[in-house]
Amino acid sequence: MKTSEIMAKLQAKYPGENEYLQAVQEVLESIEDVYNMHPEFEKAKIVERMVEPDRIFSFRVTWVDDMGEVQTNTGYRIQFNSAIGPYKGGLRFHKAVTPSMLKFLGFEQTFKNALTTLPMGGAKGGSDFDPKGKSNAEIMRFCQAFMAELWQCIGPDQDVPAGDVGVGGREIGYMYGMYKKLAREYNTGVLTGKGSTWGGSILRPEATGFGALYFVDHVLRTAGKDIAGKTIAVSGFGNVAWGACIKASQLGAKVVAISGPDGVCHIPAGITKEMIDYMLVMRASNRDKVEDMASRFPEQAKFIAGKKSWSIPVDIALPCAFQNELSEDDAKELKANGCWCCCEVSNMGCQPGAIHFFQHNGVLFAPGKAVNAGGVATSGLEMTQNAAHISWTADEVDSKLHQIMQSIHEQCVKFGTQPDGTIDYVKGANIAGFMKVAQAMLEQGII
Ligand code: GLU
Repeated sequence: MKTSEIMAKLQAKYPGENEYLQAVQEVLESIEDVYNMHPEFEKAKIVERMVEPDRIFSFRVTWVDDMGEVQTNTGYRIQFNSAIGPYKGGLRFHKAVTPSMLKFLGFEQTFKNALTTLPMGGAKGGSDFDPKGKSNAEIMRFCQAFMAELWQCIGPDQDVPAGDVGVGGREIGYMYGMYKKLAREYNTGVLTGKGSTWGGSILRPEATGFGALYFVDHVLRTAGKDIAGKTIAVSGFGNVAWGACIKASQLGAKVVAISGPDGVCHIPAGITKEMIDYMLVMRASNRDKVEDMASRFPEQAKFIAGKKSWSIPVDIALPCAFQNELSEDDAKELKANGCWCCCEVSNMGCQPGAIHFFQHNGVLFAPGKAVNAGGVATSGLEMTQNAAHISWTADEVDSKLHQIMQSIHEQCVKFGTQPDGTIDYVKGANIAGFMKVAQAMLEQGII
């Protein structure tokens, strides 16, 4: 069956699962040519099997809030593909979480994890729990109730969750505590993103942002440019944006915008170390307001309500917040203001129209599954350290992360270089990931 027919069948089968269909469509468009060149993939129905999750767990999560009210949410774990290794991927706590969102994320994770060169399959999970405005005690009770169901689905050699939007070191701590109590297993390798004194890898919190900037650096060098002195707009102010701001500043670039659901903070002279540190305070407050940065640093940062980071003139745009956060209109505004490079750090951060516009108007573009793979790659390094009962130094982890990002860039160049010499990073990442997973599935038979 042609990839377009497979897509049409999925659209009919899962109407309304928009994020999932969007993610699959992008991959199928990229791989069409190589798929047609491999009749053995078609015979084994590799694509039909790859687009369906292996299994989906869905469960009720009931907890009690600070007012004594009983609250109920839905929890999920989607084990998408285990061709390359045990299921691996984060947990997202956000009010908009649906099975469609987690299916898109699990599908993306399968390709991303294959790109890291480490043996990890793809998974994703989470809940429609909204952390905004919740107290620390409420977060703890929710995490414990969530793990009371999840623990039976996971294990160090089976499925290893980590953080994502709404889930950071604090949440991983509460979940690990409950896992230990229920499973009576003391193997820290069951979750990644742990605290550094109890099995967490040094640099895991920074890794997504650091890896992204290493990748951006490679993209720029390959295009004959230098990152030093360039202006950057980042979206969000969570863990990923935080790591990106640190590494961008270290590489000599200037981050002039961060944003939140309430608007954007314009920082004309560039973000400072104090401001980057304050992002952690803002995240821990659960207020979800970037205006707090302008209130704390009124001299340096100007808050503009209702605007996105993409309204600020910059050289480089780095979406670091949520899927589809950058629209075609945003892409046009960025380009009109002089932007010439956009690298997705959030998963599927750009809408298809935006990607199309960038690619046809000379703006360097790279997709999230390549750019942000440093996070899960460092989770893979955390699993290795846990399995060997050792811990590496920051320099050791950083140099391994650097090597992995370089290898991902090389894979994109290998599979994405076009006849005119330009590099299509979307094609490159999708084909490289697909070939690896498809080959492994083929070799493991019809299961
Ligand atoms: N949630 C992150 C991602 O989208 C990290 C997953 C992990 O470390 O397992 O890749």
